[in-house]
Amino acid sequence: MFPNIPFDRVNWFTSSFLVVTLLTTLIGTPIYFAHYGFDPVIIGMFFVFFLFTGMSITLGYHRLFAHKAFKAKKPVKLFTLLFGAAAFEDSALDWASDHRIHHKYVDRDDDPYDISKGFFWAHMGWIFFKLYPRELSNVNDLRKDPLVMWQHRYHRIIGVTVGIILPTVIGAIYNGAEGALGGFLVGGITRLVAVQHCTFLINSLCHTMGSRPYDSKTSARDHWFMAIFTFGEGYHNYHHSFQHDYRNGVKPWQWDPTKWAIWTLDRLGLVSDLRRVPEEKIVLAELREIKNQTEAQIADNHGWKIITCPTRQEAYQKLVEMSHQLAEGYHELEKAVGDRIKMSGENLAYWRDQTARAAEQLTMMRHLQAGLVA
Ligand SMILES: [Zn+2]
Ligand SMILES: [Zn+2]
Repeated sequence: MFPNIPFDRVNWFTSSFLVVTLLTTLIGTPIYFAHYGFDPVIIGMFFVFFLFTGMSITLGYHRLFAHKAFKAKKPVKLFTLLFGAAAFEDSALDWASDHRIHHKYVDRDDDPYDISKGFFWAHMGWIFFKLYPRELSNVNDLRKDPLVMWQHRYHRIIGVTVGIILPTVIGAIYNGAEGALGGFLVGGITRLVAVQHCTFLINSLCHTMGSRPYDSKTSARDHWFMAIFTFGEGYHNYHHSFQHDYRNGVKPWQWDPTKWAIWTLDRLGLVSDLRRVPEEKIVLAELREIKNQTEAQIADNHGWKIITCPTRQEAYQKLVEMSHQLAEGYHELEKAVGDRIKMSGENLAYWRDQTARAAEQLTMMRHLQAGLVA
């Protein structure tokens, strides 16, 4: 019936879990609410467990274990390993291994959640075919950590205890059998489905929708909308350009609660050695990207220099001038970064401004080309 699906490679256990929990959320939870109404404590339990388990994935599994973007003391490690297991996204060791492969081979065949195989594959399809035991040679550093190895061995039982039994017991204490059912369905199953799909969106939508201000050679994109659902992981183009930075939303105004939580834990002495990419390198990446785009646009509009329309000729000339300035600035900055020279704030602000102007000019040129302006 489905000749293209390799049924011999399907992981039936994981696939059944994903399907059953999703169906329970879509059918069981609305029935529960229709029958018992919206109890603020049960709803509150959803949000608290969503925050704890979701943040354990972004702050713990992702930025701490997979990327080593900072160092953490035992309480932070233990918390993120316990609540990370409750997101039912594998052990931290397995997760970090997949994720490191994703960064290394992004958009290529070896990328486990390769977006070029389609949106659904990148979102969750790949998980249906993930077989065990797996080769974990790219996480030897994490294998030296006894806490990580303990969680790797017992992550399913930890997940059930923290992610399902705990909310059920809290619900029972609060309101007997009705509360227990609410805790199980809303704080347990619905919450884990919500966390899972928010994580999955990073692999699917964050490689589909948004801008690429740092590197357009990768499919990873930045979008504020995605950052809202993913505790700040929506700035995925930045993240793929500078994966060891503890920040994903690197601009001060960008919504990145994971970054703020790491910064706060640092102030409290619970984490340390936060890795930050120097500002010069970030500006250089933005400048390089806009320079490349400008050059591509000039090549695209090459014929415009001989046409008679003054608006188009003027726009073309402006873009050419801008391209020369960008190239000069790029070499100057590249040298400064290579020589590890710290640039002044004013100097960096100047190049940021030039990048923004070039982006405006490019947009104008594209509008002209598309006939949106005369
Ligand atoms: Zn990615
Ligand atoms: Zn990453």
